[in-house]
Amino acid sequence: MHLNPYGEDAVNLAAALANRRPGSTDELAESCRTAGLTLERPVTADDLNRARAALDIWEMIVDAADEQERAGLLNRMLAEAAAYPRLTSHSGTGWHLHYRDAEQPLGSVLFTLFAVGTALHLTGRGMHRLRRCEVTGCDTAFADTSRTGRQRYCSQRCANRDAVRRHRARTAAT
Ligand SMILES: [Zn+2]
Ligand SMILES: [Zn+2]
Repeated sequence: MHLNPYGEDAVNLAAALANRRPGSTDELAESCRTAGLTLERPVTADDLNRARAALDIWEMIVDAADEQERAGLLNRMLAEAAAYPRLTSHSGTGWHLHYRDAEQPLGSVLFTLFAVGTALHLTGRGMHRLRRCEVTGCDTAFADTSRTGRQRYCSQRCANRDAVRRHRARTAAT
């Protein structure tokens, strides 16, 4: 997976895994492959634990009360993920940046990917663009990559559901 300038794929993978926590190493491997990550070795229990730790912090970043708290939490995550960025070109992928040391286990790769991807997303598109769905009881976390930056629902399905609810409320009131 290449980090595009807005970190979109990385932040979306974090959201997908946070919303549906991998219950096993196989599930984690499957989600990563689906997202386009190349897995160089078998996924271990340590990878799963490290990924879960990363998702715990990531959800705190989603639920941060304000921008300052959000930035503070993300800086802590970045500090923990820290390695100097370097240019790399593996298996014909073309030159790109890695924000981690070579030969890292998947858990650490994900930790760095979530931290850097989320930082790129928030600084590139807006600090407010990470939130949970507005439908009561949904709570799905998502990165707002919409053009306007005012996405309120995790999906079209939830948007429709809320439109129906609001329509019913209006009808009941009249
Ligand atoms: Zn790479
Ligand atoms: Zn939703």
